Amino acid sequence: MSVLNTLAQPFSPAGFPHFHYDQGQLFAEGSKLAEIAQQVGTPCYVYSKAAITQAWQAYQAAIGTRRVLVCYGMKANSNLSILNTFRALGSGFDIVSGGELARVLKVGADPKKIVFSGVGKQTWEIEHAIKVGVKCFNVESASELKRISQVASALKATATISLRVNPDVDAQTHPYISTGLKENKFGIAIEDALQTYQLAATLPGLQVVGVDCHIGSQITETAPYLDALDKLLALIDTLKENGIALKHLDLGGGLGIRYDDETPLAPSLLLSAIFTVIDQRGYSDLELVFEPGRSLVGNAGVLMTTVQYLKHTEARNFAIIDAGMNDLIRPALYQAWHGVLPLDLPKAELATHHYDLVGPVCESADWLAKQRLLDLQEDQVLALDSAGAYGFVMACNYNTRGRPAEVLVDGSTWHIIRTRETFEDMIRGESLP
Ligand SMILES: *Cc1c(COP(=O)(O)O)cnc(C)c1O
Repeated sequence: MSVLNTLAQPFSPAGFPHFHYDQGQLFAEGSKLAEIAQQVGTPCYVYSKAAITQAWQAYQAAIGTRRVLVCYGMKANSNLSILNTFRALGSGFDIVSGGELARVLKVGADPKKIVFSGVGKQTWEIEHAIKVGVKCFNVESASELKRISQVASALKATATISLRVNPDVDAQTHPYISTGLKENKFGIAIEDALQTYQLAATLPGLQVVGVDCHIGSQITETAPYLDALDKLLALIDTLKENGIALKHLDLGGGLGIRYDDETPLAPSLLLSAIFTVIDQRGYSDLELVFEPGRSLVGNAGVLMTTVQYLKHTEARNFAIIDAGMNDLIRPALYQAWHGVLPLDLPKAELATHHYDLVGPVCESADWLAKQRLLDLQEDQVLALDSAGAYGFVMACNYNTRGRPAEVLVDGSTWHIIRTRETFEDMIRGESLP
């Protein structure tokens, strides 16, 4: 990018419309990030409410008047303010633990819009979910089915269930975020599904209402979804022949976003392809459910960090920054790419070094970006883009580092929606015998 052009008029980094440079300064909506960094400190996550709303509206525009429930896959970002934003938009929630259930109930979510996924649901979690009356359990094994039946019977209640089927399709994504292959721990093998539905029909305390799959994350093609859909519709046909009628079909989440140069999978493209197949196969009356996480929040957030030290060695140029793998683990875990945006654009095109941005944590895996052509100074503040999903939620206290603050921007106002974790926060619960 030419600096002269960029200074002349406001512009947004590609794929990132709610963040923009004006006079060389990076803004989230109408809020200048340098001011937030100065007042809140770094590392600090900043989210744009308008970006979240726009991502939500992309789904709603694709859905139109059809009967589709969007359940935000809240493990992507579960800050109460983010959840409250989704609740206010009318979203349902896809939860994977009793802790997540408690979070969404805290912001007043409607249990009838909550689906409960996850391979390892414990008895207390199942009990809580039955008591509040969640829409559906997405059941991942025959053993879990029996456990839910027992818990529901003991409570003299009925649990509504759906089986999470593993359709054995390759989502063509990173192996750690692929979930729909035979070798993955998730779901019930599609060949065993009929038998498991028949078991469900005989167990007390259960009402079978749906079928579910979630084949992976950061998927950028429609083909894996259509493969899965085809297999699930064939299963629904078989179930019907065997006297088991379903009310809903849940195709999970997984839509990919733009991190580097990926073409994101637009909800309109995917949903229209799905609707076409559903209508052709005569299932227009099935309620559809989607569980998107990343595609609703990923591009809505950045992680601000300050350059501590520059270190030029024979093999590498390092920028040692104040954010590490404990704050944002995606690069270490998935070799993920996050763009690096200076808060203050350099006045001239001086970028002569390829830098590795590394954190202070004592691990060689502690890097956030590699080999980026940048012009860096010590004390300079940077923003790692597309950090709204699977960022803060995966943060931990490794090396006794407090987790970052979180800020939600709404136009020219912003709020700290989570304070930086203190030493006292970190040792709470520890004691000397
Ligand atoms: C993680 C997860 C999601 C959300 O996935 P994204 O890739 O973030 O859209 C949805 N459903 C289930 C069951 C999940 O585990």
